[in-house]
Amino acid sequence: MDTKKIYNYLSKNNSTLVNKPDEADIIIFVTCAAVNQVSDSSLDQIKKFQRYDAELIVAGCLPEVEKESLSKIFNGKTISTKNLDEIDILFPENKIKFKNIEDVNLLYDNINLNFPESIFKKTLEEVRIINKSYLFLKTHILRNLFDERSFVYLAYTKNQFHIRVSWGCKGNCSYCTIKKSTGPMHSKPLNQCIDELKKGLRNGYTHFVITAEDIGSYGLDNNSSLPELLDKMTEIERNYKLYIRGLNPRWLIKYHGKLKPILERGKIIALEIPFQSGSCRILRLMHRYSDVEKLKETVKEIKKSFPEISLITHIIVGFPTETKNELNQTLFLLKGAGFNSGQIFPYSKKTGTDAALIKPQFSKKEILQSMKYTRCILVNNKYKVIYIAKINSFLFDKGI
Ligand code: SF4
Repeated sequence: MDTKKIYNYLSKNNSTLVNKPDEADIIIFVTCAAVNQVSDSSLDQIKKFQRYDAELIVAGCLPEVEKESLSKIFNGKTISTKNLDEIDILFPENKIKFKNIEDVNLLYDNINLNFPESIFKKTLEEVRIINKSYLFLKTHILRNLFDERSFVYLAYTKNQFHIRVSWGCKGNCSYCTIKKSTGPMHSKPLNQCIDELKKGLRNGYTHFVITAEDIGSYGLDNNSSLPELLDKMTEIERNYKLYIRGLNPRWLIKYHGKLKPILERGKIIALEIPFQSGSCRILRLMHRYSDVEKLKETVKEIKKSFPEISLITHIIVGFPTETKNELNQTLFLLKGAGFNSGQIFPYSKKTGTDAALIKPQFSKKEILQSMKYTRCILVNNKYKVIYIAKINSFLFDKGI
């Protein structure tokens, strides 16, 4: 969303987006550093971009999260996620300031894809019949692989309207560096969130992704709350669906009672509840909500009352000192609570975090073995699993 917002800022100030890096005067590389594999590939890409004549600006999370590694290979300009407004300092001639650019709702339109992907897409768009067939085929393949309410299916087949409701997080997970780069938690005003939803409806969108790093903390800084936000977002008399991302377990437990009447309206079709581990000991080490039994009972109750809601989660495998028995507890929780789909990440050791100080840490090989074991158990439990090599992660899904 930040990449698209930067794109909109530059376009509105009359910059031209070019197709290839060797045509550019300036390259702005918006990085991610959530897991090591992605940080490493961002660092590699920075080395490649420096070979062009263009000036390189590194934006996103990497400048904060991987300060030391970045300084070894790059000493140019950076903009971190929490200080995106400072982009105006780098472009003093721009009349429209970054803070006056609307937040982004649509992620992909108008952004040029990499060459030759852009040419391929352009050709498809030009030849309508091929384009239609391509979309039909893609939808058909995904429908056969994944349930229509899975996040994979929704992400790749529905034209989704995103609403970012807050920035930052009130959590303090021992392995996390995201907080470092996103800065203090702050919410978008409630009426602005509702206005964006209405704008999407006016423009014919029916699928909305309501997103934030820590959506449960919405409103803590502006006298509102997640239940109030979702209440207002589901009371409009139209046919539309919401997918709620980033609902950490502690907020689910806190707001469960208030969310029930909202879920009864049938507008929320998917809830992403990242539980990360099914072991109380590991969750305490992660500094996360650790009453596994209570979480399991709450999620089961939601599933029982609202069987049509897709429950999505995230799991970390190979957290320091995690035993096989504790990994099994995670997989039992996944199955026992009735999660439909999710994503498995290998633990990434990040310098400066509390988790990096826990001993012993697993080797890459040991974590890979745990990932393979997890994959086998998921397949045995009838989940469809696909491997995303770019981030060394598994997506899994077993439908509703
Ligand atoms: S919930 Fe935990 S992992 Fe997620 S952003 Fe907050 S501190 Fe980081």
